[in-house]
Amino acid sequence: MTLHADPASLTPAAASPSTGRLILVGAGPGAADLLTLRALRHLQEADVVFHDRLIDPAVLALVNPRALLRDVGKAVGANLWPQTRICAEIIAAAQRGQRVLRLKSGDPSIFGRAAEEIEAARLHGIPVEIVPGITAACAAAASLCQPLTTRGQSRQLVIASATGQSANDACLPAALQPGSSYALYMAIHRIDTLVAELAAQGLPPETAIRIVSAASTAQERVLEAPLHRLAAQVRQQGIANPAILLFTMPATASQPQATAVTIAAATC
Ligand code: SAH
Repeated sequence: MTLHADPASLTPAAASPSTGRLILVGAGPGAADLLTLRALRHLQEADVVFHDRLIDPAVLALVNPRALLRDVGKAVGANLWPQTRICAEIIAAAQRGQRVLRLKSGDPSIFGRAAEEIEAARLHGIPVEIVPGITAACAAAASLCQPLTTRGQSRQLVIASATGQSANDACLPAALQPGSSYALYMAIHRIDTLVAELAAQGLPPETAIRIVSAASTAQERVLEAPLHRLAAQVRQQGIANPAILLFTMPATASQPQATAVTIAAATC
């Protein structure tokens, strides 16, 4: 694992009795009542909260009013808060003895850049805790009132980023597996190329694709369209990020219908 921290600002040090702690908290997809009770307790006990751009104001409203709120969200194109700076500041706050809450959308361990922050804290002897949250794929399925997997239709669920390290990299699972369901994160801004990639991998043009944008929030939008009409529909209806794209690669007739569920990550 690479530590993306500025070495000068992150000199290794042993934990002292006054050292604070770092708590990575999943804020869920947006709706405040999708927070866990544990997340709520930490929100109320925090001294300082570093939060992402996608955190809903309704969730931020639950933070301890005496806590310092710091928006470290990365607006597209802006680089005010590179990961090195976030790591440096959360470590500095914990070293001042504060309870540092790192509030991330959905679940902190899914496309949440959690690894760098955990590693930086460990390097400094700062205790770390993770509070899981409801990830966007689960919230999107709930909004559609449909399961992410269906017995007899999908043998595995693949949670994947549709975006690579740089904005336009193709980053799909190597080959779409018949009988597998896919939940694609970070897909909307490159919908045209994504549709072409899916078609090239053999996803039939009539396959139903579902998109849920801003799942669980007041701005929630749902779109269902066959693959071949998807990009046009996204544009026509103005569907925007944050959004999750869900589909199942149809099983072939000869395929065994196993019931096991595997959750696989397929990032770049
Ligand atoms: N850790 C988050 C994912 C962060 S990556 C989680 O577990 O959900 C950011 C991507 O998550 C967005 O580009 C979008 O694809 C997805 N996302 C986050 N919140 C969402 C929401 N409320 N509705 C739909 N997609 C969402």
